[in-house]
Amino acid sequence: MTQQSPGKKPPSQKGKATSQKPELGVSLPSVLTVKQMADLLGITPIEAIKQLMRRGIMASVNQAVNYDDAAAIATDLGRTPVLKREEEKEKEKEKETPAPKQPPVSKKAAKAQKPRPPVVTVLGHVDHGKTSLLDAIRHSNVADKEAGAITQHIGAYQVTVDGKEITFIDTPGHEAFTAMRARGASVTDIAILVVAADDGIMPQTLEAIDHVRAANVPIIVAINKMDKPNADAERVKKQLGEQNLIIEEWGGEVLAIPVSAKKREGISTLLEHILIVAELAELKANPDLPAKGIVLEAKLDNTKGMLATLLVQDGTLKAGDIVVVENRHWGKVKAMFSDKGKRVKSSGPSTPVEIMGLSEVPQAGDAFTVAASEHEARLIIEKLQAQQQVRKAKSTTLTDISSQIRAGETKAVNLILKADVQGSIEPIKNSLERLQNNEIKVRIVHSGSGNITESDVMLAVASNAIIIGFNSRVEPRVKRLADSEGVEMRNYQIIYRIIEDMEKTVTGMLEPTYVDVTEGHAEVRALFKVKSAVVAGCYVMDGKVTSTSKARVIRKGKLLHESNVNSLRHFKDHVKEMGAGSECGISIEGFADFVIGDILEFYRKEKQ
Ligand code: GDP
Repeated sequence: MTQQSPGKKPPSQKGKATSQKPELGVSLPSVLTVKQMADLLGITPIEAIKQLMRRGIMASVNQAVNYDDAAAIATDLGRTPVLKREEEKEKEKEKETPAPKQPPVSKKAAKAQKPRPPVVTVLGHVDHGKTSLLDAIRHSNVADKEAGAITQHIGAYQVTVDGKEITFIDTPGHEAFTAMRARGASVTDIAILVVAADDGIMPQTLEAIDHVRAANVPIIVAINKMDKPNADAERVKKQLGEQNLIIEEWGGEVLAIPVSAKKREGISTLLEHILIVAELAELKANPDLPAKGIVLEAKLDNTKGMLATLLVQDGTLKAGDIVVVENRHWGKVKAMFSDKGKRVKSSGPSTPVEIMGLSEVPQAGDAFTVAASEHEARLIIEKLQAQQQVRKAKSTTLTDISSQIRAGETKAVNLILKADVQGSIEPIKNSLERLQNNEIKVRIVHSGSGNITESDVMLAVASNAIIIGFNSRVEPRVKRLADSEGVEMRNYQIIYRIIEDMEKTVTGMLEPTYVDVTEGHAEVRALFKVKSAVVAGCYVMDGKVTSTSKARVIRKGKLLHESNVNSLRHFKDHVKEMGAGSECGISIEGFADFVIGDILEFYRKEKQ
């Protein structure tokens, strides 16, 4: 996969990396947009913006540049610019095919959408310098502009670069990133992948890449620790290439910026490039709407009470607003503080803000909205609770996916593949990918060796994936998490079985298999006639019997009858369950010929 800008895909890189001799002359109009300039010069919009920056011009893709500037850049690139004559332009206009229609947006709504700062998350392998980089960014920026106003730790902070803001999420790592996504919150616009230049790509780097790709978020690579004597940026670039992250200088679209968080070098270049990627994404929000967004963190303060950091994603949050958190609780914003600890009255899109006034502790990743009144807050909560009931019923299993494929409702199977050893992964991956056809895709969202981890489970939730383990271990707490999140984990010992099950899934033929789980045994000790039925007076010897159990009647070791418990009574009362050591009356569907001494075996069918 090559990196794509979030909103738009830059045009193919004409003229780059081809053996043909590029045409030298280029005809440029008197005024043109940066994108048009890039197209005419056969470079990517990112490259065009960079070239302009080198000449001290900050312009976004859709901004206009004049002929002189465009010509200067053409010359820098070894081209010979000529001014395009007006009539030529007219002719070309006629020939131009109409631009694809944008989805209809009412004029009013489009006008209300304003550019918003990008929200950036930092990910990468442990000890590669994520925290140091976040610190370096925070200090490099605040120190010169607002001496003394060091940011508070509120879970996110903003820096200003050339008058434009960038918001950084202050919890590095893909676990937090994916945990938020698993809860339905997509917070990040751009991911910074930190790779230490002396260490190169490591297992958690690979994991981070997969997590970011699953979220479809553009990546900028920060090659950190460049100050170290054994730093080797070229090796990192090569390793990135092996992961299909082709850097720009090699004809790809991934920006890789060498930095040293320790020496605070390369930070401003990194920030400028974040702005370039953000420009291309054309991130917008409407500051005139009531706010909605995500809770980033919350804490209890001795003097201020409950403090919650919210990231406003759309609209503007104002002091006095009624904030509704998920489907649980609401509170009035009593006071708001910026990341610099300043009291603020309002907070616009992409801005983190700490608020006082919530009554309960929200969780990171909770969504919030603003209600017009307390009555509306209650209505919102009721509606969301009803929606959650529906969502809860939807856990995905491989057999569900198979029947969805059969019904034509799904066209993809998302898998996370974990194997005990690295060597098993490639053959399984290849065989699985071979199963896909024109209709149905098999996507390996992430693969790796070792145990199935909590991070795998959260990625599965976020990507609606099934976890396939090949001789992989699962710790009980991970199993519990998977159960509570409704994630199916299938562990296999034979590769052939994985392929067989996946083949059935892709063709919509995988049926659930059931196993009998024994619940308990009882001995028949007396017989009663109740109306026309025969009730066996039983003693439960082990386990339990329930009113919904399936039952087998066994006499002298031979199975006589198999059906369901019809009724279960304790004296005269109908009961749901009786445990070992108790006496009860049991009737069995379709069977009346009990003999004292018969053994009843109870079991249930469980989906495997
Ligand atoms: P994290 O686990 O990715 O958050 O990594 P940290 O930011 O905690 O950094 C891990 C170690 O690397 C610390 O000892 C840092 O001082 C060191 N470190 C981080 N950035 C740099 C750098 O640019 N150069 C050098 N030499 N060391 C760094």
